[in-house]
Amino acid sequence: MTTTPPDSLPSSASSAPSAVNLHPRIGHGYDLHRLEPDLPLVVGGVKIDHDRGCAAHSDGDVVYHAVTDAILGALGQDDIGQLFPDNDPKWKDADSHIFFEEAVRRMGNAGYALGNLDITVILERPKLSPHKAAIRQNLDDLLGCDSSQVNIKAKTHERVDALGKTLRSPATSWCY
Ligand SMILES: [Zn+2]
Repeated sequence: MTTTPPDSLPSSASSAPSAVNLHPRIGHGYDLHRLEPDLPLVVGGVKIDHDRGCAAHSDGDVVYHAVTDAILGALGQDDIGQLFPDNDPKWKDADSHIFFEEAVRRMGNAGYALGNLDITVILERPKLSPHKAAIRQNLDDLLGCDSSQVNIKAKTHERVDALGKTLRSPATSWCY
C-alpha cells in the first residue's frame, strides 16, 4: 500500500532501484545463543527470571535479533552482524532494541511498512507462554503496528536439547 520513494536511503541500500518498492518483499531471520548459568535472559525485550541466560556480546535477545535480520533481509540490506559487529565494544551488553529500531528506521526510509511478522522461539525451558503477551506488545510498540500483524509461537526442542542449553528463533517478515 505505502510505496512512497525513499527520502534518504542509507548508503548500503542506495543500489536498490526504487521500482523494487512496488513489490512486497519477504525476509527471513534466524538467531541462536547458548544458554549459560547466571546470565540475564532477555526474550523479545522481556527479562525472564531463569537460572540461565544467553551468552552474547549484546543482551542476546534472540527474538529482536531474528526480527532485525528478517526486516533487513526483506530490504536486501546488510545483516545485523554487519551493521553491529560483535567485536565492536560499542555494542557490548547493548540493549537489542537499538538494532531492532535501526531495522525499522531503514524499512521506513526504503518506503516499506510491515505486512506481517511470524516468529518461532525454540527453547526447552523456561516456558515462554506467560511472557508471550508482553513480548508481542513490545514488538507491536517497536514496529508501530497492529497486534494482528505479529504472531509469536513457542516450541520446545522435543528433548533433543534436554538440558536447555540453547535458545533459537527463526522469524519471517513480509513488507509492502
Ligand atoms: Zn543474537
